[in-house]
Amino acid sequence: MVVSRLQPGQSDPVSYICSCSAKSQGGGQVLLFYRYFENTPPLPTAHLPVTNDQAQDLAAWHRSLTTTLSLNGKLRIAREGFNVTVAGTTAAIETFIEQCTAHWSFAGLDLKSTQQRKAFFKPSPGCACVFAPAPEASVRVCAEITPLGITDYAPTDWAVVAELEPAEFHRRCAAGGDGVELMDLRNHYESRIGYFVSGATGQPAIRPAIRRFSQWPRYVKSHQGRESQQEKKQVLTYCTGGIRCEKATRWMAERPDETREICTLKGGIAAYLDWVDEEIAAGRMRFQDSLFRGKNYVFDARGAVGLNAYNADQEEPVSNCHMCGKAEDRLGKCKTAGCHLILVVCEDCEAKDARCCQSCQQMDGTEIKGRPMCECESARESDLWSGGNTGLAIQRRQKARTKQSDININVKIID
Ligand SMILES: [Zn+2]
Ligand SMILES: [Zn+2]
Ligand SMILES: [Zn+2]
Ligand SMILES: [Zn+2]
Repeated sequence: MVVSRLQPGQSDPVSYICSCSAKSQGGGQVLLFYRYFENTPPLPTAHLPVTNDQAQDLAAWHRSLTTTLSLNGKLRIAREGFNVTVAGTTAAIETFIEQCTAHWSFAGLDLKSTQQRKAFFKPSPGCACVFAPAPEASVRVCAEITPLGITDYAPTDWAVVAELEPAEFHRRCAAGGDGVELMDLRNHYESRIGYFVSGATGQPAIRPAIRRFSQWPRYVKSHQGRESQQEKKQVLTYCTGGIRCEKATRWMAERPDETREICTLKGGIAAYLDWVDEEIAAGRMRFQDSLFRGKNYVFDARGAVGLNAYNADQEEPVSNCHMCGKAEDRLGKCKTAGCHLILVVCEDCEAKDARCCQSCQQMDGTEIKGRPMCECESARESDLWSGGNTGLAIQRRQKARTKQSDININVKIID
């Protein structure tokens, strides 16, 4: 995967300039990995955390290791497992992987070969600076390793959902006709700049206009049994690196009345892009055969990553500048203080005055606390719960507004 060509000088978190030792030490890497202890292959029962003490121990271990190795990143530890993204020099990352694979929290995983390690840790280019300005890794013990927001839910049967390797996911996505529902589990600002399309129909995946993952269960409940779903026999879901799908699809499958076969993309878009890169390098696939279009949004200052073959000069982005409407996948932010909405915005427009919507602009300078939602945000929310759609109303409005070179719907980052 290659790092998006985001311009330096953009406000964080959508760009970064390397100022660490990775520069002089032949580069660095970012890892993105997680584990639910009870999913296959499970952590041996002897190690399974029964209280928060083991989670605290694991967090302390990571805190000390990331400090020693000068790694930056975000680590979330819970009794159910861990969710880790760390970055540092290539040498430090190698030592980190060695230490992890020898630790009790990795017991039961088979990570001997280079291939197995690559699939598990999902390395991509970057360095500790992608998490700047944080001075060090943030290690926290949480209730959930990624917040689905359903209290005390734990899957009773992990085998109820099939986790597909990228090649098999590609095969089903290519063949899938009307009976297959392709679903993006990410937030709407992520699925804006990149998404899967069905090979059979050319239709993009359903991309719910949620702004945080904990809205997804409500989205599922409010859309269950809709006419658009009745013909579906199979659901293929995906997310950035697989973690959101892993627990959420079990929850969906265990719901009463859920009759469809639910499958997820193992390792998420990150694993799929790596697989396509390998297939292209081996001459078995062409760039245009990839069913993932655009770029994979990442939660660090790199903004997004794409295929090695993805070249912004040759490849038309799937998204448009929020202000002028030209094809663009560069990320920026609404300039209104306290807004935080992430926008797709071209360099020229960002240098001018990029705002998510006019009402937001008018609110500039108002006290941030208790600030009302701007118009575009409230329109997105009401479409999400009332329209029974997948962001279609938003897309329609966006199209209409782009035509008038007006301001349209935007995206928001919440971590
Ligand atoms: Zn750096
Ligand atoms: Zn523009
Ligand atoms: Zn705004
Ligand atoms: Zn707005």
